[in-house]
Formats: sequence, C-alpha cells, structure tokens
Amino acid sequence: MIKVRFAPSPTGRIHLGNARTALANWLFAKANNGEFILRFDDTDFERSKQEYADGIEQDLKWLGISPDMITAQSKRFDLYDAARDELIAMGRLYPCYETGDELDRKRVRARAMGRPPIYDRAALLLSDEEKQKYENEGRKPHWRFKLDGEPVIFNDLVRGDQTVNISSMSDPVLIRGDGSYLYTLPSVVDDLDLGITHIIRGEDHVSNSGVQVEIFDALGGKAPIFAHHNLLSDAQGKGLSKRLGSLSLQGLREAGYEPMAVAIMATITGTSLPVEPVASLAELAKKFDFSIISRGPARYDEAELETLNARILHDMDYETAKPRLEKFDLEGEDLWLALRENLVKFDDIKDLAKLITGPIEPNIALDDKEFIEIAAKNLPPLPWDENTWGQWTSSLKSLTGRKGKNLFLPLRLAITGRKDGPELKSLLVLIGRKECLARLS
Ligand code: GLU
Repeated sequence: MIKVRFAPSPTGRIHLGNARTALANWLFAKANNGEFILRFDDTDFERSKQEYADGIEQDLKWLGISPDMITAQSKRFDLYDAARDELIAMGRLYPCYETGDELDRKRVRARAMGRPPIYDRAALLLSDEEKQKYENEGRKPHWRFKLDGEPVIFNDLVRGDQTVNISSMSDPVLIRGDGSYLYTLPSVVDDLDLGITHIIRGEDHVSNSGVQVEIFDALGGKAPIFAHHNLLSDAQGKGLSKRLGSLSLQGLREAGYEPMAVAIMATITGTSLPVEPVASLAELAKKFDFSIISRGPARYDEAELETLNARILHDMDYETAKPRLEKFDLEGEDLWLALRENLVKFDDIKDLAKLITGPIEPNIALDDKEFIEIAAKNLPPLPWDENTWGQWTSSLKSLTGRKGKNLFLPLRLAITGRKDGPELKSLLVLIGRKECLARLS
C-alpha cells in the first residue's frame, strides 16, 4: 500500500508552496488508495509551537485534506535515540567539539587555500583523552554523520535519474551540541518506522535526499521512492517564506478565496495542465500525475487566482451556495443565478444583493431626466417575467429614438446607481415593479 507523509515544521502557518507539497502527497495517495500521514517535524523546541500545529491542521482541513494519521517527532525520541546509538556503534556518527567560531575559521582558511569549505573531519582523529579533555572543559559535542563519499544515485518520479555528489558535502550534523536532533535523522527513522513508500517534497530537498539515502542504507532500510516537485515562487519570482507569512493559507482564506481555487492554483501552477475549474479534489486527483510537473519554476500569479475563483463561483449551483447565502439573510435561486456572474469572491454577494434589496442611490443625469420620466411612465404593468425588460426597452426605443448605450446606460444608472453589474433582464424582475418605479422617480 502506498503511504506518504506531509511533514511541516510547526514554526509558522503554511503557505501556498507548502500546500503544493501537501496536495501532491494527498492527491497521489487518493489516486492510489494510499494513506496520508501528517507528521509535525517539531524537534526544534524553540521555534515549534502548538498553535502553529493546530493552525496547520485547520489549513489542511480547509483545503479538503483529512490525514489518515497525525503524529509528531517530539513524541518519538526513543526511536531516534535507538538509531543514534546504532549509528554510533557502527562508527557512522561521531562527536565533534569545534565551536561555531572555530568552524568559521576553518572555512575561511579552506577558501583562502582554494579548497571547498568542507568539514575536514578533524574530530575523527581525536583520541579518547582529547575528547575527555574537551568534556572536562564543559564542551558538549555535536554529532556528524560520516558520509561514505560515493555519489548517491536515485530515480526521481519528477526529475528522472538524480546523482547527488556527496563528496562535495560536509559530513552533516545530525545532533546539535544541546543534544537536540536536526530534522535529517528523525525524518529517516520515521519514514522507515511508518513504512513510507514515497517521499514527495520540494526540490530544495534533493541534496538532503542524497544524504538521507545513505542514512537509510546505514540503518539497514530501503529508501522510499522520491518525487521532488518544483517550488512555487511569487509573481516577482521570489521564494515563499513561512516566516514572512507570504501567501499563507490563512491569509488566502481570510481574503475570501474558495479552497478549491487555492488547491487548483497550488497544484496546477507550473505544470503542463491549464489552470481551470475542477469540481473536487477527487477530480483533481484523476488529473494529477508527477509527469505533469514542469522542471522550471512555478510562478504564482494572483490575477490568475482571482479569475479562477470567479469562474468557480460563476458555475456554482444554488444548492451549494444556499447555506452560505443564509449568512447574509439572502435566499432564492433566481437571486443567485442573477448575481453569481458578477462575483469574484463569494462575499461580494452582500453588496451586489443591495442592487435588489436596496437602498441604492439612483443616478440620473440632468440630460436624462426627461427620458427617465418617460421610462417611468411606460413601465410595463404586472405580471413581470424575463421578457419584461426587452418589451420595455423596445417601446422606449420607439418612443424616444434612443438606442444602444444611450438607451440602456441611463436606465441602469437610475435603477442600480452603477454603470455596470448583473444583467438588467433578471434584476428587473427581482427588484419588482414598485421599487423600480420608486427608483425611476
Ligand atoms: N520538515 C521538513 C520541511 O518542512 C520536511 C521535509 C520532508 O518532507 O522530508 O521541509
């Protein structure tokens, strides 16, 4: 069975780019009857917060993602400690005592000598006495994983064959001086323990994957299949940041976007598919495939999101809209059908409905006063239907000789106070004869 995980660190709310990763996992799992695990990578105690974890759960729920399992790394330290001990016993994890300053100096020296600033593995040469001496001085070791230096090759479902050149990397620190874990080792331990079959994440993780493949091997496991997708950038081509709160899902929700519009944008931007309405995540899952993802950057365009949002609303049926209309004390299929064409965001309905319910400020220019008087006098008698507008305006055309914009615009301005808006043919019936007459007068 396919098992995937979305593994945000709860150090802020997730943004559209994180949603891309979450959805790639979710859609792939759904299309294959697989399982989706939400795993909080919260080993950084200082920056991780429960409120962010709760918020991320809410954000996913809003998008339509309901994890099959939720877990957090902070609950799984026993597993990491066991893996740590195993790696130490095989000599793949070694203690280092350099301070940050010392490491900086080493890097500067390496660069000055024209060498790449790779960690020199001096700590591997320390004798037991030297280590003891550091410990006695009160220095706490950080722990590095000993890379074996061979290029790591793996097949990526998005990017094809990948070679990560491990020999140009420093042995990665897996455990900090204060004993806390960086994300690298816990992630591998969890992926093994939870039986993750596919790691689907952003392409900023490709070199991590190289390192992690070595750790999977060292721990006697098999690395999952990888799929690294391209990253979303903002309209200026800049990366999105959780810390800056750029394009957070929370912000997009508060701005009134439909979750489906956001999900489609997050998934489809930077792929070979057109950005267009899709009815549900289940439908989107049928279209989604790793082969659609482009290799170039995925540039998000807010105007595109607005257009998509509007298109989703223009197609929305009354049954779906009904419970949401109640919030504004609005009801009626005719009202919905007359107004939905003019929505960009759902809540625009509140102002648009005033065109029907009033109060509106009729706008009658001096030049049109006489024309509007004639219009009021010739308002057809009840009952009204969708032909009333046509009958009324053609009679006014023959009575006054006005046509086109000259005929229609003053009527619209008098009846709605605005120079554009929903079709008057439907509006007229909804406003009703009495109110129309009042506005024309
Ligand atoms: N916590 C990592 C991140 O947010 C997870 C990466 C992964 O999927 O392994 O980037």
